[in-house]
Amino acid sequence: MRISYSQFAAYRRCPHLYRLQYVDKIVVPVGPELHFGAAVHDALNRMYDPRQLERPELEAVVEAFVRSWRGREAQVPEPKRQAYFEQGVQLIQSHYAKYSEANEDRRTAATELRFSIALPGDHKLHGRIDRVDVLPEKKLEVIDYKTSRRMPPQEIVERDAQLAIYRMAADTLYPGFDVATTLLFLLHDHQMRTVQSTEFLEETRGDILDTVARIELEEFEPDPGPHCDWCAFRSHCDLFRAPVEPEDLEIDIASAMSEYVEASAAEKQARKRKEAAQHLIHDYLDQSQAERVESSGYVAQRRTQKRVRQWDAALVRELLEPIGKWEEVTQVNAAAVKRLLSDPSLSRAMRRDLEAAAEYTDTKMLRVRPLADDEDIEEKGE
Ligand code: SF4
Repeated sequence: MRISYSQFAAYRRCPHLYRLQYVDKIVVPVGPELHFGAAVHDALNRMYDPRQLERPELEAVVEAFVRSWRGREAQVPEPKRQAYFEQGVQLIQSHYAKYSEANEDRRTAATELRFSIALPGDHKLHGRIDRVDVLPEKKLEVIDYKTSRRMPPQEIVERDAQLAIYRMAADTLYPGFDVATTLLFLLHDHQMRTVQSTEFLEETRGDILDTVARIELEEFEPDPGPHCDWCAFRSHCDLFRAPVEPEDLEIDIASAMSEYVEASAAEKQARKRKEAAQHLIHDYLDQSQAERVESSGYVAQRRTQKRVRQWDAALVRELLEPIGKWEEVTQVNAAAVKRLLSDPSLSRAMRRDLEAAAEYTDTKMLRVRPLADDEDIEEKGE
């Protein structure tokens, strides 16, 4: 399978979104900011194109922006069109004014660099890098242009999968160079640079392979969340499909929904009343130094239940390893050790020692039932 960062990111955001975009290949209109970004990228490619013998004039770079924008502006709503255009021209002018001078310490090796690198299992990771600059001492800087206003915090950039993928590509295409990756936020002329750790690169590679495996298994379940609010595929999404009511449908959905809301509110109210009454009964029993009270035909009785708060992992291991039972408790948690405690092959002494390796919390359980019959009506721990 060939996978790009965009595909990887789409799947991680929502597998169903991936299916709509890359399997069903539904085409949706893109927002004006993407057209703006594409036109700015075209202009900067013209400015930094390494095949040119010298830097082009400002007019040529602005002209590249204007040409690209004119080809796209029809898809941008009228009220925003002029504002985007003017912002683009201004951005190119100020970027050119700051960076057009030749810099002895920096030479652009590639723009719009396409790559396709091998992943384990005959898969390919492909994409395109905006710009690669060569610096002294065999250093390389991979630059990704951003035209968004919002800038992420540095911690997010350090764990940016797109930059990690570019780093993997640059390491493969330019072996022997020290590679740094940079997000260049053009509207703010701000650079955020990072050098990924080997562990993070491995982690990203693992995430990509895991994503590929899930795509091959056709796992495309929707993963709804706040991102649905700005999902461009929402009108095609199974979760947001409008109901198609059959003609003979007799369900009054409006009243069913209001009934549900009202019942939930009443349930919440009842839970609060129950908790308040429960506190009062506990208080009564505490202050009366009793564990049981009979009144108005009801009896309230409580008992103390011992619960494990946490196990002493080192001690549990010390006890279980010599008898070959440690592997059965891959994690020292209550469920795993409890399971082991019911193992009939465990000696009584070992069971006792194991139980002693836990810290306990006492939970008071309250039971309220009618005095006449023995039927429970409520049970609650505190
Ligand atoms: S609307 Fe939400 S659940 Fe549906 S495809 Fe988009 S992100 Fe996924």
